[in-house]
Amino acid sequence: MRATAAALVLFGLAGCAAPGDDVPPTPDAPYAVVLGTAQDAGIPQIACPCDRCAAAREDSAARRLVTSVLIADPRSGRRFLLDASPDLAEQVERARPHPPGRRPPPGRPPLFDAIFPTHAHAGHYTGLLELGNEAYGADGQRVVATPRMAAFLRANDPWRFLVERGFVVLEELPLETEIALADDLTLEALPVPHRDEHSDTVAFVVRGPARALLYLPDIDKWDRWDRRLEDILADVDVALVDGTFFADGEIPGRAMDQIPHPFIEETIARLKALPEDVRAKVVFTHLNHTNPAADPASDAARTVREAGMAVAEEGQTFGLGGGATRARESAGEHRGAR
Ligand SMILES: [Zn+2]
Ligand SMILES: [Zn+2]
Ligand SMILES: [Zn+2]
Repeated sequence: MRATAAALVLFGLAGCAAPGDDVPPTPDAPYAVVLGTAQDAGIPQIACPCDRCAAAREDSAARRLVTSVLIADPRSGRRFLLDASPDLAEQVERARPHPPGRRPPPGRPPLFDAIFPTHAHAGHYTGLLELGNEAYGADGQRVVATPRMAAFLRANDPWRFLVERGFVVLEELPLETEIALADDLTLEALPVPHRDEHSDTVAFVVRGPARALLYLPDIDKWDRWDRRLEDILADVDVALVDGTFFADGEIPGRAMDQIPHPFIEETIARLKALPEDVRAKVVFTHLNHTNPAADPASDAARTVREAGMAVAEEGQTFGLGGGATRARESAGEHRGAR
């Protein structure tokens, strides 16, 4: 009964959508929930005196947790986490209602059916430490990582210790191969060029029964990739992409070619000739504290909206099932059932 009430609240509220939520979640299909939208260091960033970080310390609405996405499947109660950020403890709380009706067994069961880290930079995997004895003490949390990332975790403390003691059960994720999360839900890791000091770096394509989502938080530059962003956009319905920086010169006194990312300005320019419905798939995430688009009232955020794109917001959801019609029908069924 409680689960039904939770489902009604979640799916009933789906109409109050943030930008990009063109297909709200429905009880009969998997969906994605944005759990974090900041670069690895979050907003505010540690000890940073900049105005945006100062504002975020004053006003929690201006804070941004580190990038992470939940894939929830209300049909099975299963759920999967893309990236284990240093904000994992807070993100586990925010993930608590997803999917509705999920009933974890007592004890310290795995928090997710699997965790998929994109790479070994601080924002994307250090949350795994929360699974160890000092914190949650997970009973065999499945972590699925590329062979190179898995080798890094297996060989280096404190990750090695988590695996050795069974807090983490490590599995290898083959590149460019769809693996099944359900009969009609798959995940594929696409290698992307990035500063690969400890591991390689991947983006994920998650395909649901009717819609697909790209999660690509870090890449050096679009033209260093052996794939074309345009081709991927043709193939998915939502693309959460690297929006670390808005424009060159954003970090005073630091050569930005040493920390390459596609500037949001560059992505907008690259995609500006595409049809409106394709541009509407683009949602920027992984925002650095220097990125003016992190403030929805900024000129930069307006530029993103005028380009027909969006900046990701925490709590934003993307249905991976049928179209809007199906979503509306499903909402109607729920009302009828009351
Ligand atoms: Zn990152
Ligand atoms: Zn700052
Ligand atoms: Zn990175």
